[in-house]
Amino acid sequence: MSGGNLLIRGGYVLTMDSAGDLQGADVHVRDGAIVAVGEHLDAPGAEVIDAAGKIVAPGLVDTHWHMWNTLLRGLSDGSDRSGYFVNCVALGRHFLPADTYAGTRLACAEAVDAGITTVHDWAHNIRGIDWAEAGLRALSESGLRARFSYGYETGHPNDRLMALDDLTRVASAWSSYSAGGRIQLGMAWRGTGGSNPAMRVAPALYREEIETARGLGLPVSVHACGPRHAAGQLATYAAERLLGPDLQVIHLNNAWTNEISLAAARGTPASVSPFTELQIGYGQPVTGALLAAGVPTGLSVDTTMLSGNADMFAIMKVTQGCANALAHDEFALTARDVLRLATIEGARTLGLDSVTGSLTPGKRADVIVVSPHAPNIGVLTDPARLLVTAAHPGNVEVVIADGRVLKRSGALTGYDVAEVTSTARNALAGVLERT
Ligand SMILES: [Zn+2]
Repeated sequence: MSGGNLLIRGGYVLTMDSAGDLQGADVHVRDGAIVAVGEHLDAPGAEVIDAAGKIVAPGLVDTHWHMWNTLLRGLSDGSDRSGYFVNCVALGRHFLPADTYAGTRLACAEAVDAGITTVHDWAHNIRGIDWAEAGLRALSESGLRARFSYGYETGHPNDRLMALDDLTRVASAWSSYSAGGRIQLGMAWRGTGGSNPAMRVAPALYREEIETARGLGLPVSVHACGPRHAAGQLATYAAERLLGPDLQVIHLNNAWTNEISLAAARGTPASVSPFTELQIGYGQPVTGALLAAGVPTGLSVDTTMLSGNADMFAIMKVTQGCANALAHDEFALTARDVLRLATIEGARTLGLDSVTGSLTPGKRADVIVVSPHAPNIGVLTDPARLLVTAAHPGNVEVVIADGRVLKRSGALTGYDVAEVTSTARNALAGVLERT
């Protein structure tokens, strides 16, 4: 899978590490790893990918994405009977494992196409181990780097524990699921009751859940402080001494200032999903406040039921726009800052910063080449600014994950797109028929 010998030659290389930007530099990839970055590298026998006049950057990092429900793209609008949460539960109940596979695979294909090489699949429609295995199979086949966060099923009753036995079983057999270490396991935790205060989970239950995950050595991820009335969830986690680097918290839009300070003090990472937070009415993303407090922060797709697509370039752009708008300051968040969130900082929030997120010798080879030779770019000025404000997935010419070329000359190498999309349409038809 990742035994290639590749030389990405002559690009404008954004290393996103202390080496900075290197114009006209090469990136040498061998056996899935970056072995050298610099000018005029000698790489005998390597397949050459010409990147002259193009931007070479680390693969983009998503930090929270309900990939299964990509099958339901577009189905969350109009009224409170057809909104995101209602449809997610109503349709999610009728998913079979093959539907989870079809939805997750469509999301994976979209990720590759968009230059995202790391995803955090927040699997919250696991209706049994078969559904987990279906999602894992799609991730494994994709070639992407991933965290698979094992969750519950949509509509899971508040008075019942998550399926901790299944999680434990999958964790104990993890080497057979991990695609050689490319996929890590985590827990998608429902927390103290999610975003609706009328749906609290008894402390004895949620404590057992998080203690089980931690007993298995798994990182945990939880939605926190969604709607305005739910502010205070982070304070609850702090009071329960649950905050720490292994607990990712999502949607801190309405967290109190002291809650953000608590997260920073405990090294608790955050995930910001600007498009879905705006779309569902959580209010402004608080990226600037998180960074000012020192909270490790990454960006996320969340769900294409709300965001529509997984365009991480657009996610970066709206992140910068929202931060500057909120600060009334054109320079509150720079393009370079936000590109860091979508690469090395996102990787840090997943505990993967020693593996990916920058073009550093010794790291795994997750690399993208973006061509400016399209009407929406056309000039090669500040490459960070171009990636954040001008580029779109169509400009991504080459995608390499773990040393394997997943997109070449603008075409996906591992997917028959017509087959992926027709399978998705057929699966959705079945879900709708059963609902
Ligand atoms: Zn989410």
